[in-house]
Amino acid sequence: MSGFVYSEKPIEIVEGDGPYLYDDNGDEYLDMGASYACVPLGHGHDSVTDAITTQLSDLTYVQGSYPVAVRSQLYETLGNVAPGGIEKVWLCNSGTEANEAALKFARAATGNTKIIATVRGFHGRTMGALSTTWKDKYKDPYEPLLENVEFVQYGDVDAITTAIDGNTAAVIVEPVQGEGGINPASPNFMKAIREATTEAGAALILDEVQTGLGRTGKLWACERIDVVPDILTSAKGLGNGLPIGATLCRDWIAEEYGDHASTFSGNPLISAAAEATISTITDEDLPIHAAEIGTYLQKQLEAELGDRVRDIRGEGLMVGIEVKRGANRILQELAMNHRVLALPAGRTVVRLLPPLIIDKNHADHVVDALGKIID
Ligand SMILES: *Cc1c(COP(=O)(O)O)cnc(C)c1O
Repeated sequence: MSGFVYSEKPIEIVEGDGPYLYDDNGDEYLDMGASYACVPLGHGHDSVTDAITTQLSDLTYVQGSYPVAVRSQLYETLGNVAPGGIEKVWLCNSGTEANEAALKFARAATGNTKIIATVRGFHGRTMGALSTTWKDKYKDPYEPLLENVEFVQYGDVDAITTAIDGNTAAVIVEPVQGEGGINPASPNFMKAIREATTEAGAALILDEVQTGLGRTGKLWACERIDVVPDILTSAKGLGNGLPIGATLCRDWIAEEYGDHASTFSGNPLISAAAEATISTITDEDLPIHAAEIGTYLQKQLEAELGDRVRDIRGEGLMVGIEVKRGANRILQELAMNHRVLALPAGRTVVRLLPPLIIDKNHADHVVDALGKIID
């Protein structure tokens, strides 16, 4: 048998250490995509390895209805770091599931059905989350999807405040669009959504699956714009490479969420990984480090690439370089000739989401490589 969803790359990765990956020949690659933002602490971080190794010998799984100390500890840690006013959490296994729950909870808590999403937004691939994802390519083969989803232009205050009405269950939006090309939202746009949803009794869902956990220079990107959502979703880097998602909710959502569950929710092994990941990010002030290195990286990119590219944008260590020719060829050259792994965001954007632990030398390395490739 063979897998069929992923087209496999021509490199076999056998080991990871910090910001580096190693292939079966022992060649070293700088992982400037953190494998889709999934390893904010870098590969094989001791704090996570120790936490899961200890938990592994005690208990890997028991059904979610039994309390376990490590999950309680994770709840407490999440409670300490969640934006003020967000007190409840539902744990699951991935980003799409965190959003799926958010959409369900919003419908149950509001009694409304309409969901508003944004052009170029990405929220996952299960049927509900997929219905709020913009790209037709991801949706067409599976239609019909959820009814009553309306897309508005990302950043258009008038359009979104007009769309939010008395039948709106939720607005789901990324504080910085990732997959859609690294597009930071203006604070005005976010504040307008916050005001209009509050007024209409609708839920504001902020999808921080990619922006969260320190990447944009704050633990949560919404702290940068001073907006607290009703529901905040997290995943990707939350377990530093182990599968976990979280739907963080205000009380009014959690009080009437309907009926929801998932077998592996909050399982002890993965809870240990997430607990260690969040604690390390906050104990080591990695959001501040991400802000500093991110600013340095963007400055160096601008100095090196200048008008050879269309745009350089982002927040902290979530950086997009809009190029004049296809991003994929550049990514291929980066990997093969310079041993740097990065990501696309659409056809024309090279996306950098490095581990938060990188230093200036790592930033210089990718800037130098891109300078040689892009003419
Ligand atoms: C990756 C991503 C998702 C989906 O997460 P999965 O774990 O792949 O299901 C949802 N929202 C955003 C913003 C993402 O970047």
